[in-house]
Amino acid sequence: MRGDLGAFARGLEALEAWQRQWPAFARAGELTLEAGRLEATLDELAVRLRDNYPFFHPQYAGQMLKPPHPVAMMAYMMAMTINPNNHALDGGPATAALEREAVAQLAAMFGYEAPLAHLTSSGTIANLEALWVSRSLHPDRGIAYSRQAHYTHGRMSEVLGMRAFPVEVDASGRMDLADLEALLDREAIGTVVATAGTTGLGAVDPIDRLVALGRERGFRVHVDAAYGGFYRLLADLDPSPIGASRAFQAIAQADSVVIDPHKHGLQPYGCGAVLFRDASLGRFYQHDSPYTYFTSAELHLGEISLECSRAGAAAAAFWATLRCFPLTSSEGMGAILQATRRAALDWAARLAESSVLSLVMPPELDILAFYPTAGGRSASAVSRETERVFQALMTDPEEPLYLAKLVLPRSLVESGAPDLDWDQPTVTVLRSCLMKPEHEAAVPWLHARVEREAGVSA
Ligand SMILES: *Cc1c(COP(=O)(O)O)cnc(C)c1O
Repeated sequence: MRGDLGAFARGLEALEAWQRQWPAFARAGELTLEAGRLEATLDELAVRLRDNYPFFHPQYAGQMLKPPHPVAMMAYMMAMTINPNNHALDGGPATAALEREAVAQLAAMFGYEAPLAHLTSSGTIANLEALWVSRSLHPDRGIAYSRQAHYTHGRMSEVLGMRAFPVEVDASGRMDLADLEALLDREAIGTVVATAGTTGLGAVDPIDRLVALGRERGFRVHVDAAYGGFYRLLADLDPSPIGASRAFQAIAQADSVVIDPHKHGLQPYGCGAVLFRDASLGRFYQHDSPYTYFTSAELHLGEISLECSRAGAAAAAFWATLRCFPLTSSEGMGAILQATRRAALDWAARLAESSVLSLVMPPELDILAFYPTAGGRSASAVSRETERVFQALMTDPEEPLYLAKLVLPRSLVESGAPDLDWDQPTVTVLRSCLMKPEHEAAVPWLHARVEREAGVSA
């Protein structure tokens, strides 16, 4: 980011020119720091922040974490010097406009023509809003989601007092439609949550078939694309580098969708989004505010959002990022996802050839699950060896590598691993989210490094 500070200084300078339109005033003494205090504090902070894993580096290939792009950081900081609140136009008309433009681009990507859409502070809140609208539409009906769906759906249906039904998954980790149909025969289901990129394996539920089934059986479809949503950009390529392109294309016919720009959208935390295809659902959000909504008769974002205060800076950051990385399939954001997808395919091909590592299943997006086999072929031995390899790689002083772990049920592993001995119902495997385009060049090293550690027990 340091190399881009000239652009940042220019941006700040332009903002200060705007601030100089008002009469100069003396800054309060109470806010003034004694000489050296700021430097000392930031020095101390820099030391404290070293207690982190190197999320920025290709050798970090674990959880869904990476730093935002410098354009997002700088746009965020510029807007933050004003600190607009996107609750109401009273709190920041400019960033409210930027938010509308940014979510309009998300809507165009998904194929929603005139949606009700806004940013949220997270995927959790975005999904909560979608489930809350489901309950408002069908107060007597429950929701269904797959056993591989994010835990937030079970927890938020508890918050909302809704009946919630987990549905089994098939051997690929996608919702099992036969099990869903059996549930629909037994229970009144108002909304089925389809996941486009499960948090564990990156599996994509068959959204196209769910939309068709929803029309036939009378349920709504909400798509949780918090992680995988930006892969929609690759679905129309011919040939598409993702197998689930029909599922992604069918989001256009689903009733609502959630996407997290703070995952694959190069944003700092505090940026989720929810989009409803039918804008008239805004009626459920209607409320009066005795404090706000005064400067304009136009719609205030707080009138269509459950959250009150929200960072206008988050909207500015995402808007600026989309100016630099547009939502196109072969350039901008799409080019980044093509690289992460190539990285996943390359590593998967290497894992398939390995004699000491086994791939759990081919990756649908950029998340890989694999396990070491040299420590024994029972589920408990594989779990122990996973733990050993995970720790050994992470704590290696010379060549550390940071992976993640995942606990999987037998049903998701056994079809690809007929030789495992099931002495326990689950197995812990290694998991890697290849979220950075730099992972593409790092894959040969990543694979060799894990193989070397996994071969120690051979
Ligand atoms: C990350 C994630 C969530 C939760 O979103 P937060 O932004 O972490 O609150 C929900 N669903 C899926 C599929 C996710 O990957």
